[in-house]
Amino acid sequence: MQKTVRSTLFSEEQIERRVGELAKAISDDYRDKGNVVLIGILKGSFIFLADLSRKLDIDRTVEFIAVSSYHGATSGAVRMIMDVRGDIAGRHVLIVEDIVDTGNTLKYLIQILKSRNPASLKTCALLHKAEATVADVPIDYVGFPIGDEWVVGYGLDYDEFGRTLPYIGVIDPD
Ligand code: 5GP
Repeated sequence: MQKTVRSTLFSEEQIERRVGELAKAISDDYRDKGNVVLIGILKGSFIFLADLSRKLDIDRTVEFIAVSSYHGATSGAVRMIMDVRGDIAGRHVLIVEDIVDTGNTLKYLIQILKSRNPASLKTCALLHKAEATVADVPIDYVGFPIGDEWVVGYGLDYDEFGRTLPYIGVIDPD
């Protein structure tokens, strides 16, 4: 059955404004540090990372990691499918996530990337389901806190439905 978006959570304009604010905060924090490596987590973060990276006014490099973390509705074991190309030792690294739910994916990524000895490691998530987060993970930059609902759009999908919508909406749980 075709899914439908029940309601809009964040409009295109709201997202653009908030991404601009995040980019300003990140630019200010990293201005004196030299190059920052932005690591986008595929697939969900590709649109967020594209917009965020273009709004930064500091020296930056873009990398991607792909993980598979969801099997059905519950978050299970996290597995890396694609790794970054470059060496991150001694580099300032910012993980760019679409959404933090249980936090298990971010915890896994922090563990792996920390072991590679970056100069610093911070995290940025466009959306955070604070009530659903069980893993103890630091999120240094959060776009919007949201409730425990399934959202699509702006890179986020439900079985590929909704991924390229320009806004973020809640889908009907059927
Ligand atoms: P966590 O490991 O934090 O439970 O899950 C993180 C991943 O689950 C996200 O990167 C995303 O792929 C997926 N996810 C969690 N909640 C949502 C949601 O509401 N919508 C979509 N599209 N993906 C979600």
